[in-house]
Amino acid sequence: MTDHLTTVAGVAVDTRHWIGGRRVASADTFTDVSPIDGSTLGEISRGTETETAQAVAAAKAAFPAWAATSRAERARILHAIADGVEKRLEDLAVVETHDNGALLRSHRRGVMPRVAHNFRFFADRLLTLDHEDFETRGHTNRVGWDPAGPCVLITPWNAPLMLATWKVAPALAAGNTVVLKPAEWSPLTASLLADIAAAAGLPAGVLNVVQGYGAEIGDALTSHPDVRRISFTGSVPTARRIAESAAANLTPLSLELGGKSPLLVFADADLDLAVDLAVEQYDNAGQVCLAATRLLVEESIAEEFTRRFVEKASGLRQGDPRDEATDIGPTIHLRQLEKVDGFVRRAIAAGARAVVGGHRKDGRYYAPTLLTEVAQDSEIVQEEVFGPVLTLQTFTTEEEAVRLADDTRFGLAATLATGDRERAERVAGRLVAGTVWVNCFFVRDLRAPFGGSRHSGVGREGGTWSFDFYCDLKNTVTAPKGWKDHG
Ligand code: NAD
Repeated sequence: MTDHLTTVAGVAVDTRHWIGGRRVASADTFTDVSPIDGSTLGEISRGTETETAQAVAAAKAAFPAWAATSRAERARILHAIADGVEKRLEDLAVVETHDNGALLRSHRRGVMPRVAHNFRFFADRLLTLDHEDFETRGHTNRVGWDPAGPCVLITPWNAPLMLATWKVAPALAAGNTVVLKPAEWSPLTASLLADIAAAAGLPAGVLNVVQGYGAEIGDALTSHPDVRRISFTGSVPTARRIAESAAANLTPLSLELGGKSPLLVFADADLDLAVDLAVEQYDNAGQVCLAATRLLVEESIAEEFTRRFVEKASGLRQGDPRDEATDIGPTIHLRQLEKVDGFVRRAIAAGARAVVGGHRKDGRYYAPTLLTEVAQDSEIVQEEVFGPVLTLQTFTTEEEAVRLADDTRFGLAATLATGDRERAERVAGRLVAGTVWVNCFFVRDLRAPFGGSRHSGVGREGGTWSFDFYCDLKNTVTAPKGWKDHG
């Protein structure tokens, strides 16, 4: 480790902020620790209100020129960033795995290619972005997409670069400038992104990265009068805090929050597929907002489903996420591990039975867990655990399945396993969820809207919806030649 550079598995990462096209250090630092073995990855600049203000000022100063840059040129630079991501894909994958503990093979094959795709998708979408013109009594109504201004983007640790670029790419495409605040438990790939963007020719100040604790610099970012959009992915309590802080300036918000999503397994389902879908919910050690953590299984097949689930889950290999053979890595942080364990202990004390797991393992690992005999109004059924913990309940009718599925304060996603297409349409139509998957999970076209209902979020991003959020839409009404209003 030299002054402001740390080396993670051979990859050099700058530990300072990136503001106005240069590296800026804070007087103080915080320690970034790897969930794999608790080793120190780096001492990261611990942002204060000073650097926060500098970053917003840099974003404000860079805004007019970037907003005036042609769509074609913005798209070209976004594609160049995607090229840079692809060129450094292995570096990004390795650093992300050390930083947040998710599987290296997922980062290599799924996550980092998607990071590049985020830039390519929004670059291409920008070039075809149009609303139809309208005509009223000979007057043309032309709808324009004005860039909104500096955007604050705040992201969590469970999929750091993927979630950051899901916001950065459309915000930049729309002609806005950005201050990105990555999570303090996984700050490293945001720093690499700054390097990649600069090398791709993104002008200074268009993308800024501020490191630090949300609790210390969050308010300064979200209450800043020069910030024109805030997009946040994270927990419900933080979202409330941000909404209060943003209220002072009525800054528009997009909130992508937590979930307690159901997987409904009907007796007519392909049982092998249903079990695969259920076991898949342990991916990323259950630290996935969309995870279907409540298994709702039709009673007539519940015993067989459980038997097959236990067999499959028992075969999962938990261990070092760098190992290609590993299925489940560690939990991000000891604090998160204790939180997960607390949920499980309280559930068991309240009468739940751990059919699989139910305990901590060495280090930061938590055994994949399935709890049965849980009450619908219990904490374990109602609250997001954000760890490898699933519950299983049974139902006897479609009506009851829908009632149980919808009976939480969340509404992020729902998954159905059924062989009956009509039932799938009927049930999907009744569920409160931003995304419903039928006999599949996690697949999603970036042209489609993404977001949650109820406490799972406010607004939708994706495709045109992202541009709706990141732009100020303007209607310019032009009179026909020689027009006079005769009242
Ligand atoms: P979190 O709310 O604790 O932190 C998220 C981010 O907010 C971090 O960068 C943090 O530093 C920052 N922050 C903290 N306090 C702040 C404040 N007062 N003002 C501004 N920013 C502040 O969430 P987390 O634990 O990092 O992430 C897990 C949560 O994220 C889960 O609830 C999960 O479901 C949710 N999530 C949702 C989605 C989605 O797309 N809906 C995706 C991934 C994760």
